[in-house]
Amino acid sequence: MADIAAPEDAEPRRIRLHRRLKDLACGDRVELDAAGEQVQRRLPRDNTLVRQDGFGRRKVIAANIDTVWIVIAPSPMPARYLIDRFLVAVYNLPARPRILVNKQDTGPAAPSEWLAPYAHLDLDPLHVSARSGYGLDALAEAARGHTNILIGQSGVGKSSLIAALLERHGSGEIKLPETGDLGASGEGRHTTVTAQWYPLTGGGAWIDSPGVRDFTPELESIDALVRGFPDIEALGEGCRFRNCRHQTEPDCAVRDAVDQGPLPAARLDAWNALLETLEKH
Ligand code: GDP
Ligand code: ZN
Repeated sequence: MADIAAPEDAEPRRIRLHRRLKDLACGDRVELDAAGEQVQRRLPRDNTLVRQDGFGRRKVIAANIDTVWIVIAPSPMPARYLIDRFLVAVYNLPARPRILVNKQDTGPAAPSEWLAPYAHLDLDPLHVSARSGYGLDALAEAARGHTNILIGQSGVGKSSLIAALLERHGSGEIKLPETGDLGASGEGRHTTVTAQWYPLTGGGAWIDSPGVRDFTPELESIDALVRGFPDIEALGEGCRFRNCRHQTEPDCAVRDAVDQGPLPAARLDAWNALLETLEKH
């Protein structure tokens, strides 16, 4: 059995799964039988957020995500390398990344200045406070109609934000087990980690799970790195070499863009740092 919310249904309900259907994840869209009583099949996914468990196995946390909110706060101080990795992961899904600056109640928003190198990326930072409620209506409004998740460093207030949001704008909770191994056999096994689907009044939902909150993005390949830096990817079209890594190659349009101003140096620094970790493996 699993809980299902059909968009046409105002109320979520419990429903039987077909015996062979074991690889459902939070956010999956499904097809029901004619009587509307049993899930027949899972529809193709737009994207999947995957994490690695302690044994290096890949697990699907959630599927069909539209918007990923990267949460930062004045404290703990944002770790730039982590934000850059989060961005790479979100652009690779692909999904829309947004920045959420929490703890607005703690005074002047230091992270605003901190965000300057990302200004050209359309991350549209939203300032909120889980504690005072500041900005939460605007957040709910921006989230409506989409499937949303929160990611970010421990301590920035993700749990507090989910709780505060649901208190004001939630309409219940739907639990689905996080699916098991993505083994070649295709046989998923349920794990004890669950992801929750919180429908928003007026459409859309928040997905929450410890797997999302502790998510540390992996970096798989140079292609993933390129996709993860859409600004550098676009500028790279102008480099003399198609596979330019923007290091010491001649006629590099990316380094030129940093020298001449359009690309913040912090972006090339982030690229260089992640390229280095990638090349170490
Ligand atoms: P998570 O690890 O990202 O889930 O963060 P938590 O929700 O557990 O919050 C970490 C700490 O920050 C807790 O002590 C919260 O009370 C506090 N916190 C969360 N949101 C806010 C906020 O908007 N303002 C302030 N001042 N503290 C907050
Ligand atoms: Zn280049």
